[in-house]
Order: sequence, then structure tokens, then C-alpha cells
Amino acid sequence: MAGKSGSREEVIIVGGGIVGCAIAWHLSCRGRKSRILERQEPGGLATHAAAGILGPMNETDRPGPFLDLLRQSLSLYPPFVDALVEETGLSPDFTTSGILSVAPRPEDRPALKARFEWQSALDSSLVFCEAPEARALEPALTGTLDSAIYYPDEGHVYAPRLIKALLGALSRRRIPLEQGVSVTRIAPSGHGTLLVFDREGGCREAEKVVLAAGALLSDIEIPGTRVPVTPVSGQILAVRSPGSFYRRVVFYPPHGYFVPKLDGTVVIGATEETIGTRTRVTPAGLMEFLSPLSSLAPGLLELPLHHTWSGLRPKSPDALPILGPHPECPGLFLAGGHYRNGILLAPVTGEIMADWIEGGSPALSLPFLPDRFLKSRNG
Ligand SMILES: Cc1cc2nc3c(=O)[nH]c(=O)nc-3n(C[C@H](O)[C@H](O)[C@H](O)COP(=O)(O)OP(=O)(O)OC[C@H]3O[C@@H](n4cnc5c(N)ncnc54)[C@H](O)[C@@H]3O)c2cc1C
Repeated sequence: MAGKSGSREEVIIVGGGIVGCAIAWHLSCRGRKSRILERQEPGGLATHAAAGILGPMNETDRPGPFLDLLRQSLSLYPPFVDALVEETGLSPDFTTSGILSVAPRPEDRPALKARFEWQSALDSSLVFCEAPEARALEPALTGTLDSAIYYPDEGHVYAPRLIKALLGALSRRRIPLEQGVSVTRIAPSGHGTLLVFDREGGCREAEKVVLAAGALLSDIEIPGTRVPVTPVSGQILAVRSPGSFYRRVVFYPPHGYFVPKLDGTVVIGATEETIGTRTRVTPAGLMEFLSPLSSLAPGLLELPLHHTWSGLRPKSPDALPILGPHPECPGLFLAGGHYRNGILLAPVTGEIMADWIEGGSPALSLPFLPDRFLKSRNG
């Protein structure tokens, strides 16, 4: 069967968020063509909503393969961004601003100290700061503060500008992104290729298919079990700061953060709610992460509100990404479940998935194989 355009595709990528676009870009860097199918706006579910924090050390409470994956991706950021800027002239405002993780009260200090012990064994650049040192690093911390860990090599990027640059680069490379195509089902053709069916009645044929549909991944029918990804809604907001007074990303308990962006806004977030695919912004949601600031960084609460929004993080049952080939369907690959870290993980995901598609089996991805959820009923 021919594709809708009358030809068989080498690679079809379902989903034009940061993950799908990063895979297409890495494939293109290796001389491989792909076609992205996108139901609506590229990155509209999660990528455009992200705070853009690039902070591996705050995303896990132990060393291991997940932290290795996060750190590897952070190390790939400078060349990734440089290449996009060179290709498109569009800057995604990537900065190694440094990140602080704070213990507001003395009773929060032992847990922070314990984290510093194991993390500084992995990275000697970390600094354990008393309150005055932390305040010198981030002037917003005028309130109650005991101590902080400083991560000088971490930072952030402006996620909507990152995907804009990536889309610009894909367009320059003539990688097609078809909008308005909502994929419903993937099935083997019977002669070594895959068929990609969409809601609009279309059917395309490809040698390889990558599912990168974010929080809606489990809606797509595939051979065997569907991919178990759950949407986790996040509410978030931005205030306008006067100039570039604020400088570092700050993580504060229980789950809050603020991110001073290079454009003068400060992004403050975020809730985590399992409420299906609904997105909404509520006063109660915003209060969850704003309330702790009244004692930690009260000045931020006096700044003019710029924008509120929400998005859907894609979460797998173990909260880890799903990366690699489908165990029972040759030619089908999965790149999902990036949850809180899809922006950070974009460069390494692009590399890993390009390796798999080219027939490799990248070691870094082996702990994240889809077969932990999709294992054969006979296997
Ligand atoms: C509030 C919030 C804050 C966040 N902050 C950070 C952060 O600071 N740092 C970080 O690293 N990450 C952060 N994240 C997480 C990050 O945004 C996600 O992990 C990442 O964007 C996932 O990328 P994706 O490409 O898999 O998904 P998406 O960006 O959701 O893209 C998936 C795409 O697939 C399309 N699609 C879905 N189904 C179909 C279909 N059937 N057919 C065709 N197309 C389809 C969708 O329309 C969408 O464009 C945050 C997320 C939220 C919500």
C-alpha cells in the first residue's frame, strides 16, 4: 500500500512535540529522512507549557541510570542549541544560570545535607551554601532560609523558543511536518512495513514508525498492549520582573520552583494533578506553589502577573521514560513517558532513538526499554 502522498516513507514520527522533533532532527543529522504527523499544534500538550528547567540533580533521589540519562542530556545541550542557532538564527535562551535547591527551615536541613553527600560524590562542583551565600546567589531569597545546594552547571531554556528553533531547522532541512493528522492505529502491513491509520481516514506506509505522542500516547492502538502513559496536568504562571534582578532557578519544598527567564519574566510552578486530559488553571492550584513563597521570597508575590497556563506531562507507570523498539512489532519504536523532563531529555532522546532506528542498541537506553510494560504474554 502506498502512503497518502503516493510513496512509502522511510520513517514516520507520530507527534510533533519536543521529543518527536528532536528525533527527526537527529535522524536528519545522520542523513535520514522522516515525516512528522501532528494532530494539532506541535508541542501543544506539554512542550509549550514547560518551565524549561535543565536540572538533573533535582529530578531523582538516587544515583543510577535515570540520573545518568539526565546528566548525559544536559551535557548535549550546548552543541544542540549551538547547531539550532547556527541553522535558524533563532535563540532558545539557553543559559547555565545555576540552580539552587533550598531548605527554608532548620528541620529541612538534614535531608538537604544527605542529598549533598551523595550528589557531591558524583559532581565536585556542587556547593553547600549557608543562607547568606544562597542569598548572594539569588536575591529573591529575602525570607526565611536555612541553607541550599548550589548546582552551578545546571540552568534552563525557553521551551517554546526551543521548539520554534527546532521546527525552523526541520523546515530548512525539508523534513515534512503534517498538521491536522490524528493517528489512531499502527498495524503491520504483512510485507515488512507498517501502516499508519489516522482519524481523517488516511493510511500511510512506512518502514519504521516512532510514537512520540506525549500524554496521548496510550490512545494510539498498536499490536498487543497499548503504551501505558498517563497525562499529569501542571498549572504554572509567569510574573514580570523589573529587569534582570533575579538570576537562578530555585527549587523549594514541597514541590515548587521559580525560573528567572532571560526575557525578564519569572516562571513559577507547578502543580501535578491526575485529572485526565483536562487542562485548567485554578486559584487553589496556583496557591499550592505560591503560598510557600510568602515566607521564602515574598518579593516575587508583589510582581505583576503576566500569564497563567497549564499542560499535560506524559507519565509512565514507573515515572521513567520509555525509549526503544516495541518488543513484538518490528519497525515500531516508542519515545514517551518523559514526564517532568522532556525538555531536558530531548537531545539524548533524539540521539538514542536515531541509534535504534539505525539498528543500534544504545546502552544508555537499555534500562528504559518499552518491554518492561509491553512484554509478550508468552514471553
Ligand atoms: C507545567 C509543566 C512544566 C514542565 N516543566 C519542565 C521543565 O522545567 N523541564 C523539563 O525538562 N520538562 C518540563 N516539563 C515536561 C515536558 O514539557 C514534557 O516532558 C515534554 O514536553 C514532553 O514532550 P513530548 O514531545 O513527548 O510531548 P508533547 O509536547 O505533548 O508533544 C506530543 C505531540 O504529539 C501530538 N499528538 C498526540 N497524539 C497524537 C496523535 N494521535 N496523532 C498525531 N499527533 C499526536 C500532540 O498534539 C503533541 O504536539 C513540564 C511540563 C509541564 C506540563
